Amino acid sequence: MKVLVINAGSSSLKYQLIDMETEKAIAKGGCERIGLEGSFCKHKANGKDKTIEAQMPTHKEAIQVVLDALVDKEYGAISSMDEIDAVGHRIVHSGEEFNDSVLLTDETMATIESLSELAPLHQPANIIGVKACKAIMPNVPMVGVFDTAFHSSMPEKAYIYGIPYEAYKDYKIRRYGFHGTSHRFVSNEAAKYLGRENDENFKVVTLHLGNGSSISAVKGGKSIDTSMSFTPLGGVPMGTRSGDMDPAIVEFLANKYNMTLAETLNYLNKKSGVSGLSGVSSDFRDLRSAAAEGNHRAQLALDVFTYSCRKYLGAYAAALGGVDCVVFTAGIGEHDGGVRKSIVTDMEYMGICLDEAKNDNLTDGICDITADGGKVKILVIPTNEELVIARDTERLAK
Ligand code: ADP
Repeated sequence: MKVLVINAGSSSLKYQLIDMETEKAIAKGGCERIGLEGSFCKHKANGKDKTIEAQMPTHKEAIQVVLDALVDKEYGAISSMDEIDAVGHRIVHSGEEFNDSVLLTDETMATIESLSELAPLHQPANIIGVKACKAIMPNVPMVGVFDTAFHSSMPEKAYIYGIPYEAYKDYKIRRYGFHGTSHRFVSNEAAKYLGRENDENFKVVTLHLGNGSSISAVKGGKSIDTSMSFTPLGGVPMGTRSGDMDPAIVEFLANKYNMTLAETLNYLNKKSGVSGLSGVSSDFRDLRSAAAEGNHRAQLALDVFTYSCRKYLGAYAAALGGVDCVVFTAGIGEHDGGVRKSIVTDMEYMGICLDEAKNDNLTDGICDITADGGKVKILVIPTNEELVIARDTERLAK
């Protein structure tokens, strides 16, 4: 079976064509500047890279460009569109309506559309991507895989805020959590790696540290708490997002800088995090080199980030009643050994002991960076959200 995985944003569309026999991507790429001047698609298959410049006023043209690229004689990966057996779409929000991936029918699409106000920037773009695909491939089964669904197992006490209960009853204001496909994938990989797949007592803290970062507590394969919140703005400070802070700051900021509420939220989403803190960059590679040259604010941004992650790790060890495994994943988690070290340093009292040489010399695939005698396994596991989407799509399309 071949599954096309689509991740549609407001002006972009990323894709991978995955052969489920090997679970490898046989083509991948992304269209950018959809709806704008100068749209293009970067496509990769058979070891060849190709940039296709084409008019893409809407996502429908973008999908057509992707399909044409996939069947192209020179740089394609399949001989006809009929080889695409199913399409899996990344959808941000499942609200409280779905706790698993779903077949995208008229009925489930209507429910997904009704959840748009919970993710006003992303959900509409995801929906446009589905509709564009359905228009071009009406007979191919489509599946929606949600960022939030994995966290639907959180207990009430973890997702209810300390505000009047009516806010939850009337408007579903609660913690939802995001990056669910990644937390699900790496916690499951960790369980397999350690031979504890069906162990309901296997306790993992997963740290997905990328442009957006979130940390989850997973027990027996189920999420019991997570740091992102009602929106992806909550939790640890990120590339450009503030993470948690006193909610009273919102009004204070708006008054001091003479900003509207929307401008203030934009400030917290786009201008904050390690980027706003350092004044250097949202990219940890840039922060590292600036800090090495003595830039205090770059070092401070790294310290604020890792300190916040440390506190979540401690909090989730408490929430889980102990921890068997700590997993690092995503851009920073997989590549920044300094961040990993700062987060777990001086945690020997909890049984968390890092082997610094292993931490500095990762190999491909899953890496065990636990020091000899360390009670808690520390693993670096490359995430693969597209593969999770493709597996769910195969399961539901069959
Ligand atoms: P996204 O959330 O967009 O999927 P990623 O998981 O790809 O992001 O993470 C991107 C981030 O990972 C970059 O902004 C950068 O900070 C960090 N990163 C990537 N490679 C490295 C590296 N070699 N060293 C340190 N940080 C890195």
